[in-house]
Amino acid sequence: MKIKVLKDILGANDQRAKENHSLLRGKNVVSMNITASPGAGKTSLITRTIDRLGDKIRFGVVEGDISSSIDAEAIGNRDIPVVQINTGGTCHLDANMVANALGSLPLDKIDFLIIENVGNLICPASFSLGEDKNVLVASIPEGHDKPHKYPVMFSQADLVVLNKIDLLPYVDFDMEEFERKVADLNSKANILQISCKTGEGLEEWFSWMTDQSTSLQQSS
Ligand code: MG
Ligand code: ZN
Repeated sequence: MKIKVLKDILGANDQRAKENHSLLRGKNVVSMNITASPGAGKTSLITRTIDRLGDKIRFGVVEGDISSSIDAEAIGNRDIPVVQINTGGTCHLDANMVANALGSLPLDKIDFLIIENVGNLICPASFSLGEDKNVLVASIPEGHDKPHKYPVMFSQADLVVLNKIDLLPYVDFDMEEFERKVADLNSKANILQISCKTGEGLEEWFSWMTDQSTSLQQSS
């Protein structure tokens, strides 16, 4: 019985995710779901991106958080449309929550929607939101065994961003092991090494974002 219920929930979620996707494509909005553990640097990456690319790309942001609005406020200071979803304790976003958020965003004025998922590397893997691309942010202090512990999330990512590489000299992090495991799990995802603090590697990230924006917008 329990298995049947779970299938129904995920089936309904997938259906709603498809609707989100067609709505966004219809409005020519590229979308990205950013997932990570708490503290990996999702919000810093988003604010860096808006500060750098905001004059070329019209961003919108959906901020998923269990209860606070600290991250949404940091982004809201940048004068772009942002919707906060407080999940009320739920540890992931689902397609229905995102559908509600889309209803209050000016989609005609957005080229690129960034969805910051709740910090969690387990259940977001099961809940598609209707996004075009999945980006997983990991960070050096979390250790090189993250892909071993959360294989499903790593296998689904279109890109893995490894943040806080400025901390490499101080942390026991085996880069080869991390890269090997990610490649084992996922043959398509590149790993971008970055530091939101020093700016190292961010140029590559900005070009990736720009490429997604142009290629997906043209394909619709
Ligand atoms: Mg955040
Ligand atoms: Zn969850």
